[in-house]
Amino acid sequence: MIWCNSVVSYNYCKFQWLLLCCFLFLAHGENIKRSDFPDEFLFGVGTSAYQIEGAYLEDGKSLNNWDVFSLSPGTIRNGDNGFVADDHYHQYLKDIELIQSLGVDTYRFSISWSRILPRGRFGDVNPDGIMFYNKILDELVCRGIKPFVTIYHFDFPQELQDRYGSWLSPLMQEDYVHYADTCFKNFGDRVKYWTTMNEPNLFTQMAYQNGKYPPARCSQPFGDCPAGNSDTEPIVVMHNMLLAHGKAVNLYRRDYQHEQGGSVGIVLDCIMYEPLTDNELDQEAARRGLAFSIGWALDPLTFGDYPSEMRQYLGNQLPQFTSAERKFMRNSVDFIGVNHYSTTYAKDCLYSNCSVTANRATKGFLDTTSERDGVQIGELTGISSLRVVPRGIGEVVEYLKERYDNKPMFITENGYSEPQTEGQDQDAIQDFKRIEFHQMYLSSLAQAIRDGANVKGYFVWTLMDDFEWIIGYRIKFGLYYIDRQTLARVPKLSAKWYQDFLKNNTQTPVIRLSSELVHNKADS
Ligand code: BGC
Repeated sequence: MIWCNSVVSYNYCKFQWLLLCCFLFLAHGENIKRSDFPDEFLFGVGTSAYQIEGAYLEDGKSLNNWDVFSLSPGTIRNGDNGFVADDHYHQYLKDIELIQSLGVDTYRFSISWSRILPRGRFGDVNPDGIMFYNKILDELVCRGIKPFVTIYHFDFPQELQDRYGSWLSPLMQEDYVHYADTCFKNFGDRVKYWTTMNEPNLFTQMAYQNGKYPPARCSQPFGDCPAGNSDTEPIVVMHNMLLAHGKAVNLYRRDYQHEQGGSVGIVLDCIMYEPLTDNELDQEAARRGLAFSIGWALDPLTFGDYPSEMRQYLGNQLPQFTSAERKFMRNSVDFIGVNHYSTTYAKDCLYSNCSVTANRATKGFLDTTSERDGVQIGELTGISSLRVVPRGIGEVVEYLKERYDNKPMFITENGYSEPQTEGQDQDAIQDFKRIEFHQMYLSSLAQAIRDGANVKGYFVWTLMDDFEWIIGYRIKFGLYYIDRQTLARVPKLSAKWYQDFLKNNTQTPVIRLSSELVHNKADS
C-alpha cells in the first residue's frame, strides 16, 4: 500500500485517513470535482531540476550558478544548498511511481542545463546527462504520463556567467538556442509540451533588481550589491531572454515541429493586481502592474513589441526590436504557462507618496500592499508576500483571455506553503490548509473556464518538498514530505486528497476508511 510506506506506521496512516475524512466532511462547500473540468483537461504535478535532483557534480554535471551561489556564505537561509536536494537523480524511479500513483495525466519537470551541456556551447554534450532524461521520459511515456518539459528553470552552467556575464550579454541567446536545440534533438520525439523558460519576469527582478538570486546584482535603493543597476539591468536581461525564446521557438517550428508535433510556450509569474481603492488612479496602477509584469514578456511574444504602458513611462530605456526580430517574436507562443500563487493590491505612485523603490519608472510607478483599511487581502502563507486569494486565479486568466485573444493557457504552478514555526515538521503532513487552498483555487478556475477562459491544464506545485531557492528547505509546497535525514518520501494528506480528486472521488474516503477499519478489525 503506497500510502503506508516504511516511514510512517500503518496506524499513523489510519490516523491520517481519519483526519482527511473528517476534514472532507467539514470543509465548507468546496466540493470541487475533476468532472467540473472539461474531459480533455490535463491535471499534473510539477518540479524543477535544481530543486529536486541533487547529484550536483555526478556523472559529468558541472557547477551551475546556484551551486556556486550557495557556496557563498549568507546567500541561502540556514546555509542550505541543492547539492543533494531530494536525491531525485538517484530516486527518480520511485518518484515516477509516486507520480503515477497520484493518477495525474502529466508531469512538469525541467532539464538541468549543466547536466547535459556542462560547458554550454564551449564543450560537448554529456551523454550521461542525456541518458538520465531519456530514462525519465521513457518511464513517463510507458506509464501513460505526458511529459511537460521546461527547458530552463533558473539554473545554467556557471561557465556562461564567468565567460560573459550570462543573461546580461546577447551571447547568452546563442547559448540558450544551442541548449534548446540539444533538448529538441534528443528528447523531442517524446515531448509534446515544451516551455522555453520559467518566469523570466520574476527571475530578472530577483537576480538583477533585488539582487537575491544569482548573480546577485543590484543598486541602491533596492539593495546593497557589489555591482549592478536595478533600474536598467532587468530590462536588458529580459530583452535577451525574450530574444532567446523567440529564436528557439523559430528553430523548433522550422526543424522539429512538423515531425515531432509538439507545441511550445513560456511560463510566467502571474500575480494578480487589484486596485487598492476604487479611485481611477489606483485602477490604472493595477492595469500598469499587470502590463509591467505579464505584458512585459507576453506582449512582445504575441504582438512583437513591449506594452504601450511600459513605453509611456520607460521611453527609450526600453530596447527596440528590429523589424526582423518583431517578425519572429510575434506569435511565438503556442500557449501561456501561468504560475499563479497570489494577488496583491496596487496603489498609484504618480500622484501620491510611495516608497523610493516603488516610485520609479522601472516599477511602473506603483506600490503593492496586502492590506486595505487594516484588512489583509488573504490569509498569510509561508512566504509573506503570497496571500491566499482564490478569486485571483479566475481574475488573472480572465485578464489573459482578454489581452491575448484567449490563447490556450496552462496553470503551470499553483501551490501553498504553510507559515512555519520551529519544530513543526510532523504537523506538516496533516496539511489541511493545502487541501483547502487547492480546492478553493480549483473552484475559482473552474468558474473561469465555464465563463470561457481557454485553460487546458493545471499543475500542483509541487510533487515533494524541495530546495526552495533562497529560502532553502524550511518552506514546503509538496504533496510529499521529505525526511531530510533519510530522504524518505512521506505522503501528506494533500497527496491523498489529490489522488481522490483525480478519481473524481470526493466522498469515498469516508466509505473506504470505514470498510478498511472493519477489515482491519476482522484481521486482528
Ligand atoms: C518557482 C518555483 C518555486 C515556487 C515557490 C515559483 O516562482 O517557479 O521554482 O518553487 O515559485 O516558491
